[in-house]
Amino acid sequence: MKKADHQLSKLRLRKVLDDRPRRIRMLLERGLIQNASEIPDDAIPIDPEVSTQATLCIPAVCYQDITFVCTDCGRPDFWSAGSQQHYFEFSKASPYSRPKLCYDCRQRNWQGGQALK
Ligand SMILES: [Zn+2]
Repeated sequence: MKKADHQLSKLRLRKVLDDRPRRIRMLLERGLIQNASEIPDDAIPIDPEVSTQATLCIPAVCYQDITFVCTDCGRPDFWSAGSQQHYFEFSKASPYSRPKLCYDCRQRNWQGGQALK
């Protein structure tokens, strides 16, 4: 488990896992996927009821780990599926938000959640 995931409580991750069948069912009902196997095991299916905004920026039906390069120190980091789900669905972040800073730079420059722009 990567550092960024430490911010996510075990309870919340548990709820995400428990919610997986419901989310896949909704995606099937809405015709967003044809088969449950389209959601990889390590991905988190989106919740069409709350993450329609997220689908604008992540052209997919599930959250998957994304690798990016920190704009500050230039090191590669990754944005976990769990963090994305939390960010878009729980924090209601702008669907156009993208990670810019790596974990270490975010910690150093932390300004009340403004690390993602
Ligand atoms: Zn950095």
